[in-house]
Amino acid sequence: MRAVTFGGISRVSVEQVAAPRVVEPSDVVVAVRVAAICGSDLHPYSGRETGLDLGTVMGHEFLGEVVEVGSAVERFSRGDRVVAPFTTSCGGCWYCERGLTARCERGQLFGWVQDGHGLHGGQAEYVRVPLADATLVQAPPGASDEAALLAGDVLSTGFYCAQLGGIEADHVVAVIGAGPVGVCATIAARRQAERVFVFDLISARRELAARHGATALDPADATAMEQIRAATGGRGVDVVLECVGSERATALSYSLVRPGGTIAAAGVHCEPHFAFSPGDAYDKNLTYRAGRCPARAMMEGTMPLVASGEHQLGALFSHRLPFEEAARGYEMFARREDGCTKVLLVP
Ligand SMILES: [Zn+2]
Ligand SMILES: [Zn+2]
Repeated sequence: MRAVTFGGISRVSVEQVAAPRVVEPSDVVVAVRVAAICGSDLHPYSGRETGLDLGTVMGHEFLGEVVEVGSAVERFSRGDRVVAPFTTSCGGCWYCERGLTARCERGQLFGWVQDGHGLHGGQAEYVRVPLADATLVQAPPGASDEAALLAGDVLSTGFYCAQLGGIEADHVVAVIGAGPVGVCATIAARRQAERVFVFDLISARRELAARHGATALDPADATAMEQIRAATGGRGVDVVLECVGSERATALSYSLVRPGGTIAAAGVHCEPHFAFSPGDAYDKNLTYRAGRCPARAMMEGTMPLVASGEHQLGALFSHRLPFEEAARGYEMFARREDGCTKVLLVP
């Protein structure tokens, strides 16, 4: 089969590799209909994150059709249209029982093979899904492939970030970053609070966030901070949803949050230290919450939202490319060329 494989820094290519088969009785094999490139796929691609084996099939965002079913699988059969969260989960361990499926004791991240161990990804014609019964979710009949795919990661991650923020109806919320996760966090925040500000350096991204009812601000604009002060009696915002994952985004979050406020971080961070000191945290009575989204648990709430068609989630994809052009998709996305915010690959 054809698959997008990792070839080192700034190198991915479409290669012919062996198609996956059912290995464990709890596996299924899915024929991929659409796969997406995620911002976090760019971490190993750009060299910010190390350890990924050469030849690993990339990607953890995919939707497809079940084509092969292990003997112990009960909930799925051939022909089911399914979405996977970006990690597998068993449904029965201490963490799964508490909804923290991203920390499942048996969980694996799609598209991450290190020192020969791990799971190949979904940017391929076929993908093996272990622990299928507890991992996969049926795509609702009315939802498009591309919108349903988003529930497996970015939509759930944005909603999880908002959940970590503990937003109340009278809160003023700031979202850092209006990429796909930031826009989804904006959607979630706006469902809970009236006043949501979104910060992004790129005007096209600000426009997208504004379409979802947020006030979009350019962090480089000197009047942005004045607007926040005016909206909060000079205190700063109650909750920051940090959806970038960089030192700069953390520093901006810290400067925006009021004393006693919360920063919730959904961005994958690769830097070794916090952008603020323990003393800074003390001085603001700061609550900082972070971590990988338990996407499988969040999909219980986000998949029905996808089915409702309410938020036109397909608009989060700026580019749709045939599979053969995956390398160009990575390049465009990494360089933010041509307003690239998210790429959909069609095998
Ligand atoms: Zn992702
Ligand atoms: Zn588990």
